[in-house]
This record gives sequence, C-alpha cells and structure tokens, in this order.
Amino acid sequence: MTATTSPVSTGQHWHETFGEVMMGSLAVPAVMLDHGRGASVWDVDGKEYLDFLAGIAVNALGHAHPVLLDALSTQAAKLVHVSNYFATPPQVALAERLLRITGAGTYGRVYFCNSGTEANEAAFKLARLNSAGSRTRILALKNGFHGRTMGSLALTGKPHMREPFEPMVPGVEHIDSTLEALDAALDDTVAALFVEPIKGEAGVIDLPDGYLAAARELTQRHGALLILDEIQTGIGRTGEWFGYQHAGIVPDAITIAKGMAGGVPIGALITFGKASELFTRGQHGSTFGGNPLATAVAGAVLEEIERAGLVENAKLRGAQLRRVLAAIGSPLIAETRGEGLLIGVGLTEPVADQLTAAALRNGLIVNAPNESSIRLAPPLIIGDDEVAEFDRRFRAALAELDQRPLDHQHQGA
Ligand SMILES: *Cc1c(COP(=O)(O)O)cnc(C)c1O
Repeated sequence: MTATTSPVSTGQHWHETFGEVMMGSLAVPAVMLDHGRGASVWDVDGKEYLDFLAGIAVNALGHAHPVLLDALSTQAAKLVHVSNYFATPPQVALAERLLRITGAGTYGRVYFCNSGTEANEAAFKLARLNSAGSRTRILALKNGFHGRTMGSLALTGKPHMREPFEPMVPGVEHIDSTLEALDAALDDTVAALFVEPIKGEAGVIDLPDGYLAAARELTQRHGALLILDEIQTGIGRTGEWFGYQHAGIVPDAITIAKGMAGGVPIGALITFGKASELFTRGQHGSTFGGNPLATAVAGAVLEEIERAGLVENAKLRGAQLRRVLAAIGSPLIAETRGEGLLIGVGLTEPVADQLTAAALRNGLIVNAPNESSIRLAPPLIIGDDEVAEFDRRFRAALAELDQRPLDHQHQGA
C-alpha cells in the first residue's frame, strides 16, 4: 500500500472524473475538501475555508474535535457492530441521555436508525399505527422537507421533488403554514401532523407565532399525533436542545439526526407518553441502527455539548451573528430568520447562488437553500474569532456582488 488517494481522484481533473463516476443525482461540487480543524476546512490545494454550514447543521463540534476522535477510536477498537440481537452499553446510555434532554423521561422510547429520512420513515409508520378507525389522513406543511426516501418524500411539501417519483405513498395532505389552515384541516380523521419547528430546507422559515402551541392543542383534541421533524433544529442548534422547547410544548414524537453524532451517521425517532406504546415487537428495525460505534460517538458529542455549554453558546453566538449581519447594513440583506445558530439571511434579490460562490472565493462556506436565501449553520463551538472572521469574509463576498453594477444593469435593462 502506498498512496491512499490516487492522483486521478484528486488531481486537476477531478471535476471531470466526478461527473464520470458519481450518479447524476449529485451536482459536481466546486471544491474537493481534504481535512478540517475546528470551524475551518482545507481543500486539496491547501486553501482554507471558514465552515459556516457544518455539513448542513451536522458537524456540531466542528472538525477533528478531540472528544469525537477519542470516542470514535476507543469504540472502534472495542465493537463497531453487533446487530440488534445484542445490546451494547453505548446504545442504552444514549437512549437514556436522549430521554433526559428531551424531557420524554420514563414514558419516552427511542428507536435508532442511520439518517434523517430513516427517522421520518419510522415516524411515518408510527403515524399509520395511530390509524385505528377512520384515521386515514396525515398532514404535513407545504414547502416542508422531510427527506428523500419514498415515505419521507411523500411528507415533503415540495411538488418538484415528488413529481418525478409518483405515485407517492398515499394519505398525505400538504397544508399552508397558517393557523387557519391547521384549524381547517384537523379533525378526527387525522392520524398525525408532521411539522419542522423551523423550515430549514425551505430557506430557514419560521412558523407563525403560536403555531406549535395551536398544533399541540388541536392534535390533542382530535387524537392525532404531533410529530416534529427536529432533524435540522435539534441537538442545540437553535439555542435550546430542541426546537419545541422554545414553544414550551410536549410533542408525541420527534425525529432527529444531523448534529446528533457530530458527523457520524445516526438518526432516531423519540416518542413521548402514549405514542411510546404504538410499536410492537418486530414491526420495525434496521441492521445498522443503534450500532455501538455511532451511539458511542453520539453519546460523547452530546456529553461535550452539555459540558461545554454549547446550547447556550448557540443562543449567544446566534444573537451576535444577527447583530453582525445588521451592522453590515448591505442593501442586499432584507432580513434574518431562524433561531440560534440556524440562520436564514433573506436577500432583496435572487442572487443567493452568486453570493454563495463569492463567499467560497473569499474562504467562507455558506449555502443557498433557495435563490433569495443564504443559510448559516456553523458548528456550535464558534467563538469571537470565528464570528469576526465571518464578518470579514461575508462583507468581502457582498462587496464582490456590489461590484457587478454593469452586469446587473444589463440584466435589468
Ligand atoms: C436533512 C433533513 C432531513 C433528511 O435527513 P437525511 O439524513 O438527509 O436523510 C429530513 N428533515 C429535515 C428537516 C432535514 O433538515
């Protein structure tokens, strides 16, 4: 064994090679990354980037965090996988920890899987189990995102994502994100309502004030499950452990994934109260789900988030970033949305792709969930230095866009 990466895969022509070997479902990325540390990553040419996307709200502890590395290597040397015919200490410990931080407690139950979409597939099956009698309808929000596999895709409120893959799993209706639409749609024929506390993929869009409280009240009254997709909003991202904690409600179930193990794939469905009694033995499972490697890393990541006060840090740094964005005072910035370190920057023009590219040229990774929104989801570990660096690099990116008056005028003319 000599080189671990072939020159073909990392050389100048890797863009071409990527297009030749990877499935057409992925766009060819602009940059090939090599390694990271803290909130920075480096590409194969040695250029450094400030990572304010964190693998889309995944790398909660940033890159190469010693706690994650230690948990990963220690557990890998013991057991990586055993199947669900056997229990392991990290799996049970992680379930206990999750039941504590969610507040689900003694009446909660945890099901482990390997991704967000799998967590929502489990939640979809949970919803069907609440279908006794005439509960045939499942509600989800227009423009919501719940994943790419067929059940989660059916829940996803973006027609252009669903249409090529129709027919969809039946029974799902997409409603407007208003209290009126909720009130009109909920009755005793509804098995479950799926909601993201903040619609991340839609562009970090907040729900109307009082929405979750009203959703809780109405679902309870009609015997429907309130299932919150906390895959992006969970694990401290919004300045609380979970998004629903801002609203002071208790849901029937939540799904989590993304930040849970700081980048090692894992997901979970967590039920609260009576919803914990719906699944019976043998009704769901996953070969890799709850494996000791992923659960050990998740346990260590959650412990570190707690030890280092990173949920509070997400709240403080989120407020600080909002002040920085306001102080920039760019005419391109219309508003900021979201909570904590899940920030949507609404633009006054549909130039999010150009701005993202300009940010990348200036050593800053952000993304564009739609043409007029920038999403910031930095690691929860960021401090003053990273905020200051973001300020410099984002200003530089905005300045590049401001220097396109010619183009811009031609476009407008
Ligand atoms: C990312 C995401 C998913 C899908 O998770 P995957 O791990 O990509 O399957 C589902 N719901 C929300 C809200 C997400 O942000």
